Amino acid sequence: MTAAQPAAQPGAQPAAHPAAQPAAHPAAQPAPPTPVLARTRDELREARARLDDGDVAVVMTMGALHQGHATLIRQARAAHQHVVVTIFLNPLQFGPKEDLSRYPRTFDADLQICTDAGVDLVFAPTPDVVYPEGDPGVRISAGPLGDVLEGQSRPGHFDGMLTVVAKLMHLTRCSAAYFGQKDAQQLLLIRRMCRDLDFPVRVVSVPTVREPDGLAMSSRNTYLTPSDRETALCLSAALRAGAAAAGEGPSAVRRAARAVLVREPLALVDYLVLVHPDTLEDVPEWYRGEALLAVAGRVGTTRLIDNLPVLLGPDGGALETFSQP
Ligand code: AMP
Repeated sequence: MTAAQPAAQPGAQPAAHPAAQPAAHPAAQPAPPTPVLARTRDELREARARLDDGDVAVVMTMGALHQGHATLIRQARAAHQHVVVTIFLNPLQFGPKEDLSRYPRTFDADLQICTDAGVDLVFAPTPDVVYPEGDPGVRISAGPLGDVLEGQSRPGHFDGMLTVVAKLMHLTRCSAAYFGQKDAQQLLLIRRMCRDLDFPVRVVSVPTVREPDGLAMSSRNTYLTPSDRETALCLSAALRAGAAAAGEGPSAVRRAARAVLVREPLALVDYLVLVHPDTLEDVPEWYRGEALLAVAGRVGTTRLIDNLPVLLGPDGGALETFSQP
């Protein structure tokens, strides 16, 4: 797992899109053009062919876009000639008891965020476009790393996620793909898929974007009542408390984070772990170096996840990102 990479390849030219240019005078700033909208494979093929340059970055989303998504898009915009955003609520990665039917759908607002952030092309297919023959019989297997943490609570989730990511990488013919550190296990598995299966795609991670009070931005935050939202703050607070104890070693980190969570009985914690960022295995007490402090829990009817990269050791603390991909 990694830290945010310097977004551009050495020597790469930043994109000259209007949305990427700071205006000398705001009134003189031309409105960014509306992205091309492709709903079908044919429309995507045609629009993608017009992005003649090979340097295409993709940001894959399930819609209900917020400033976390916008940050991924802006980073991609600043480093690549073209940016494609996919908006697709992938049924394959939702379990039968999960929130597919109530997932927020805000397509017009999503398109506005894409326009403001300088997206060239939005691919927003329906499931029958992505899976024309129904559920695919052949899927990407996440392997053992897909069975732990989120995978334990959401069986099959990561196989479904990787299958659609692979398909969208093929369909968009992207050279780079941007993903949020917010979904740390997802990011790790996508990196592994690209490496293990030789996908010619550079995976770039972007640090978690938070509300001013620390809550990690998420499309699912719209489910939270005002009092749920107060309760949910314990997740990021626990991560910060854990990171503050990083100089004292793993058990101190776990203890400090857990102490915050136990004070909030309305948050039903699924897991709180301090794991190695590559193996997702608990780090032993002697371990010093980078680790992932991750938490998941239910608040009201909503399952939330959050994490912090931390450095364990004498100069320990929270890291914005991991140092190695
Ligand atoms: P989603 O629409 O939730 O599937 O997210 C699409 C992409 O945005 C994924 O790569 C997420 O990790 C990323 N993302 C979601 N929330 C955040 C956030 N708060 N900060 C950074 N990236 C995020």
